[in-house]
Amino acid sequence: MTYKAYTLHNFRQLPQMKFLTEEQKLTIEVVGTVLPFKTNNYVVDELIDWDNFEKDPFYILNFPQRDMLSKATFDKVKMLLQGNASRTEIQEEVKKIRLKLNPNPAGQESNVPEFKGKRLTGIQHKYREIMLFFPTQGQTCHAYCTFCFRWPQFALNDFKFAMKEADTMVEYLKSNPHITDVLFTGGDPAVMQTRFFEAYFNALLDADIPNLKNIRIGTKSLGYWPYRFTTDADADDLLRLFKRVKERGINVALMAHFNHPGELKTEAVKLAVKRLIAAGVQIRSQSPLLRNINDKAEIWAENWKEQVAMGIIPYYMFIARNTGAQDYFAVSLNRAWQIYRNAYNQVSGICRTVKGPSMSCNPGKVQINGVSEINGKKVFVLNFLQGRDPSWVGKPFFAKFNPDAIWLDDLEPAFGENSFFFEDAFMELLA
Ligand SMILES: *Cc1c(COP(=O)(O)O)cnc(C)c1O
Ligand code: SF4
Repeated sequence: MTYKAYTLHNFRQLPQMKFLTEEQKLTIEVVGTVLPFKTNNYVVDELIDWDNFEKDPFYILNFPQRDMLSKATFDKVKMLLQGNASRTEIQEEVKKIRLKLNPNPAGQESNVPEFKGKRLTGIQHKYREIMLFFPTQGQTCHAYCTFCFRWPQFALNDFKFAMKEADTMVEYLKSNPHITDVLFTGGDPAVMQTRFFEAYFNALLDADIPNLKNIRIGTKSLGYWPYRFTTDADADDLLRLFKRVKERGINVALMAHFNHPGELKTEAVKLAVKRLIAAGVQIRSQSPLLRNINDKAEIWAENWKEQVAMGIIPYYMFIARNTGAQDYFAVSLNRAWQIYRNAYNQVSGICRTVKGPSMSCNPGKVQINGVSEINGKKVFVLNFLQGRDPSWVGKPFFAKFNPDAIWLDDLEPAFGENSFFFEDAFMELLA
């Protein structure tokens, strides 16, 4: 299958645009001027149900929606587009709007390590055992998710974390023996040609790093371009490369991003999963919980059951990040926990490898264990699944129950305490 991308510049050429009114197409243009917009022929032809497109999860996930911007912002951009505003004028306004949408959540800049007096801009190291690597060639995606917090990387160059050097990665790994996992991330590293994967993986293998146990690849390609692992010209080479890494005793884990069971149903994705598993690749799945997309327990239960039947291991349910179009997708922490629990209840133990619902916040990944009542006070029971300080992990803590809270920032410590147990240490770490 030949990949074809659709963006603001050519989406009107899609034959399916006949289903949209002129107003709907204009809305895509207005919102897509601020938020990233890119889709492709697989999503359009094989995932979206055009008979019911306005409610279709993949349509909403790829095509910008009216309510993803505030009314004031929408009207302003629309006026600029329809008036005689110059390109520069539009770009300047858009830049201002984007900066207000918290383009760089969870303090990512403080994850960038300093090494031998230099900031390693293509690396993030937040949790002791895991290093994130942003290969330059993997900083785009086969299609953009409308909720994504990586969008400034596609839209504003200032936030590009990518780097070119495999050598720096190897050196950093060697001098940090706690690191067992390298997670290739982006964007979507699976947009890279196999020869780039080969260069990075060979560097890792040649260096023979005893602490390196897992190479992970965070990717949406199984969901939005499964042909990457089947008919793309270098698909076979990629699978052979994975197999070779695995045979050298390093686990290759594909951290697959699936938002909805509809992504598991096409022939292409089924074949891609089979081929990856046959090559010895472990596939784990993660997704944010998103209003209008997957905010029902049944959807998650089906997703996990279907995944496990295909050989995929459910891994994380995330809370949608506090960035971009968060309001459009936000589910309250209280509801998130209920959805998680009701889905978890419906599946057998083999699906219960999943963890969540979890917020990726600046101090760490915070799980909502549940709502409880202690000494007559209603509280959220919380727990770090990952922490900037590993000693925070696995220690329950409590916040005042707040039915409207959608993020850690909305929570206050329970029982009249002034701060959460980790806050002083966290401030010190950041200083
Ligand atoms: C989620 C995340 C990881 C991976 O954590 P795991 O719990 O091991 O999957 C690593 N680094 C950052 C910055 C993360 O947000
Ligand atoms: S594929 Fe991943 S990085 Fe790309 S837009 Fe979607 S969530 Fe963001």
